Amino acid sequence: MNKIKIKEIFESIQGEGPYVGYKQLFVRFCNCNLKCNYCDTEFSSDNDYIEYDACELADAVNSYNTIHSVSLTGGEPLLAVDFLKDFLPRTDKKIYLETNATLADKFEEVKPFIDIVSADIKLESSTGIKDSIKFHDKFFDKCRGVETFAKIVFNNEITDEEINNCCVLGKKYGIELVLQPVMENDKMTVTSEYAAQILDKFLEKYENVRLIPQVHKFLDVR
Ligand code: SF4
Repeated sequence: MNKIKIKEIFESIQGEGPYVGYKQLFVRFCNCNLKCNYCDTEFSSDNDYIEYDACELADAVNSYNTIHSVSLTGGEPLLAVDFLKDFLPRTDKKIYLETNATLADKFEEVKPFIDIVSADIKLESSTGIKDSIKFHDKFFDKCRGVETFAKIVFNNEITDEEINNCCVLGKKYGIELVLQPVMENDKMTVTSEYAAQILDKFLEKYENVRLIPQVHKFLDVR
């Protein structure tokens, strides 16, 4: 059985989005297909990592009893789709996928095993990633039938066109949009007033929108 490099496995409290406060087991995969400007996640396999095959990872995951769910995170977990197809049938834990929502075809391969999708919408103004909307559109189309919400990390450069594009996607697929200001350490990089104004701009176009900063930074957990 093939082994894969996993960056780390740890229990913590979900600090983002509508599942904030739930205890999860985080399984962090190495590698990502994007390079977002604000990314501060250590996911490279250059230094520390642990090697697991699908059975070993399932044994490790199944030994945790007090968690709400297992968060597959990264990096981009869907880059390891062949491994996921071996691993996911071996656990009955609830699976929460954190993804950059650009790899629709890979998602489709593991869709039956995913309970909750936390999908990013990448804004060029905050990430530097261009034209991501067409990838997200295809991705959300594949998410039909699975609980899905979209996380939008923004800074003070967000444009009206980006707000409109996000609301069009939200409406088209009936998904909740979660606005998350870019943080520097435990501080928001925008003022509370600005964040509230951006929330209002979204709400003028689409009602299913919330503003939730990264709570784990206030809790001082990972
Ligand atoms: S998609 Fe996520 S892990 Fe990948 S570069 Fe962007 S923020 Fe970092």
